Amino acid sequence: MVDISYSTAGFMDLDVHAALDAIAAAGFDHAEISAHQVAPPLAGDALLGFRSRLEERGIAAGTVHAPMRRNVLGAPEEGWRAEKVQVLASYLRFAGAIGAAGVVIHPVPNPIFVTDPERPELPGLIAAATRRSLDELVEVAAEAGVCILLENLPYDCSYPFLNMSELRPLVDGYPAEALGLVVDTGHAWTSGCDPVEEILVAGSRLRGTHLQDVDGEDPQDNHWVPGQGDLDWDGIRAALSEVGYTRLWTFEAIVGRRGESPDDLARLTRKVADEWGLKG
Ligand SMILES: [Zn+2]
Repeated sequence: MVDISYSTAGFMDLDVHAALDAIAAAGFDHAEISAHQVAPPLAGDALLGFRSRLEERGIAAGTVHAPMRRNVLGAPEEGWRAEKVQVLASYLRFAGAIGAAGVVIHPVPNPIFVTDPERPELPGLIAAATRRSLDELVEVAAEAGVCILLENLPYDCSYPFLNMSELRPLVDGYPAEALGLVVDTGHAWTSGCDPVEEILVAGSRLRGTHLQDVDGEDPQDNHWVPGQGDLDWDGIRAALSEVGYTRLWTFEAIVGRRGESPDDLARLTRKVADEWGLKG
């Protein structure tokens, strides 16, 4: 038996309370909270109210997904980097305050946000910025009692730290309780990596999952319910077991392959978890 979790990103159009109501109704007892639904990070009475409503629903905040887009560790301009370190630090503290174990962070920017994105010096600048940001944020994470989770990303570019073969050596230089990895199965296949291999490479530093399905041919980071695409779910489950993974199985289903509603997707996902014997 393992704990299963569902991302509020599956209910992008709802506020965080309605999203959590829907996740609870579908039968999940953990959730990943998308930052944009609690932005700026809740504080004061709003934070206290959020915590008591989580308890009333019987849902635990498993993880927080930090803001995306320009909110990355490896911003190639110092002003951009320093600003985003503050934003990310505020979500690490928020995650600690709601009892979440980890915060998913995108290590490097999508080239669409970078000026002159193919300049040859960029990979080096991004790698150095990523390490500088981690040096600062790992301390904040340790103080907040949460783990930074670096996610593999499906960008078609020459930037560093997009997959586990580069992320694993990066996190190996930092304490395991403050820095770990999250494998997104659909990101892996979309960028030409086998999610099974990615899980094995992440190994003992794997602390989170984004389980979502994509097409086998010409995958487009589809975020379908597992089983609606072509990923090798038996292989993925075997790999998670092989690395001794005991943390949350977090589903990041966002899009209905057959026009399903967000509520349908959450219920279908819960059924998949049952079929896999994960719970109940
Ligand atoms: Zn993801």
